[in-house]
Amino acid sequence: MSKKGYVLDTTAIIQGVDPNSLKCESFTIRELLDEIGEIGKRWIRIKTAMMLGKLTIREPSIRSREKVEQAARDYGVYNKLSTPDIKILALGYELHNEESYDIEIISDDYDIQNTAALLSLKYISVGVTKIRKTFTYIKYCSACRRRYDKYKGTICPVCGHRLISLKQLVNKEPL
Ligand SMILES: [Zn+2]
Repeated sequence: MSKKGYVLDTTAIIQGVDPNSLKCESFTIRELLDEIGEIGKRWIRIKTAMMLGKLTIREPSIRSREKVEQAARDYGVYNKLSTPDIKILALGYELHNEESYDIEIISDDYDIQNTAALLSLKYISVGVTKIRKTFTYIKYCSACRRRYDKYKGTICPVCGHRLISLKQLVNKEPL
């Protein structure tokens, strides 16, 4: 079975997608960090997600970028895409085609969405991720990485480390 994952672009983060509340791991490119800036609520979300292993910063290979650029040129949409746009798509392409991820690109950018479709990559709009708002809190041990669903204590019963609360979706929907 393939692993499910998301690729997040800057529009996703700016529109309020929180990688910590996504059910699966997510990926993005370094440029997103520059665009968001190391300040404010969005940065804290990103930093937390990176620390918890929910968000991975990754540079797509030159080969993947070339694949995307070629497809974009063939379809005449190349000029509509910025370098970060190309890299977001290349990352999605690479994870899907080389590592068999069932990947979805979360973006509100139409040019990214259209090019994703041309490359047979799945994408979803940020709006879709906002429909489901039922959250619960689970306890998480940052030392041994165990999660506790209904545990009320503040100390990890396995390793004795202090637990932190994590927001998590209640339902079993993809997001
Ligand atoms: Zn623990």
